[in-house]
Amino acid sequence: MFALAARELGYRILVYSPENDSPTGQIADDEFSFHYDDLDRIRDFARSVQVITFEFENVPSATTEAAVAIVPVRPAGHVLHTTQHRLREKTFLQQNGFPVTPFRRIGSLNDLQQAARDLGLPAILKTASFGYDGKGQQKLQAADDLARAWENLRNAEGIYEAFVDFEKELSVIAARTFGGQISTFPVFENTHANHILDVTFAPAAISPALAAQACELASGISEKLDVVGLLTVEMFLTKSGKLSVNELAPRTHNSGHLTIDACVTSQFEQQVRAVCGLPLGSTELRSPAAMANLLGDLWQPTIPNWSAALEDPAVKLHLYGKAEPRPGRKMGHLTATAATVAEAVERVTRARGRLHG
Ligand code: AMP
Repeated sequence: MFALAARELGYRILVYSPENDSPTGQIADDEFSFHYDDLDRIRDFARSVQVITFEFENVPSATTEAAVAIVPVRPAGHVLHTTQHRLREKTFLQQNGFPVTPFRRIGSLNDLQQAARDLGLPAILKTASFGYDGKGQQKLQAADDLARAWENLRNAEGIYEAFVDFEKELSVIAARTFGGQISTFPVFENTHANHILDVTFAPAAISPALAAQACELASGISEKLDVVGLLTVEMFLTKSGKLSVNELAPRTHNSGHLTIDACVTSQFEQQVRAVCGLPLGSTELRSPAAMANLLGDLWQPTIPNWSAALEDPAVKLHLYGKAEPRPGRKMGHLTATAATVAEAVERVTRARGRLHG
């Protein structure tokens, strides 16, 4: 989706990916299919382009350092370094006065027992690295859960987070240019199924004052982190009406996919503009909208009936070109725009329901 937006603006696209025939590779001018630690290939790639950006934050620091010696890398390696590790990320947020749930580093069963005494239960234990969509996460309810949870961590570094009794989950995508111009998209409201994003709608059902506060929070973080490109800030709205940051993603985000069909500028075009030194586009929402994810599970027992979903002319289909529809894998999404958010959510979920009759 980023590559399509870049192409519309007249750019040529080269993709570097450890995979073959990646979705971006299918529409890029050229695809470098090598490992991230193959620094000679990374340097060849960097010499072939004028700017590098990411769709994935877990790129090793050595890789970005090799590339940045040759060409601008946006966002910079330090942004990836902070956001690819939950402890570094939450420590950065806390030290800069941004709201986060209380947390502790976990390196032993003793640390875990101490954290439970300090912060209480229930809580969430997460691996510090390589976690997304609830992977590497355990909910801890009682002191009896701690020993088993520590075993499940298998000596990986962990983070203990006080459980947030949230009212809603929200996200804000901020774009920031090299010159410091910042723009945020409208606040998205997200619902999850099995820890994976299920449906997003916009505008979020919150007060204008709270929406402004959420956007200011995202702008403030992107400035403090010195992001050039996009920064998605996932947040909780607590039952007492406060915002708490859950996670940062230095890139376009699944919750922003509805911007393709609903906003003047999509999140992908905005990323292109931000990293290529162009002015940012309008993030205005043209109409209320909702997005429903299409996971690989939907390919069982047969390929979904796309035509049935598209019987509603307000519904748009986006498929990513991923070869293997594994359960839980994000294969595509549907978007509906409508006069109200409630109608958009209903139309998009009904369309998804029609995929299997
Ligand atoms: P994450 O991988 O950190 O985005 O977490 C996935 C989901 O787990 C979030 O979208 C929340 O629904 C839930 N979650 C994560 N952290 C917490 C927390 N500290 N308190 C309550 N729920 C959480």
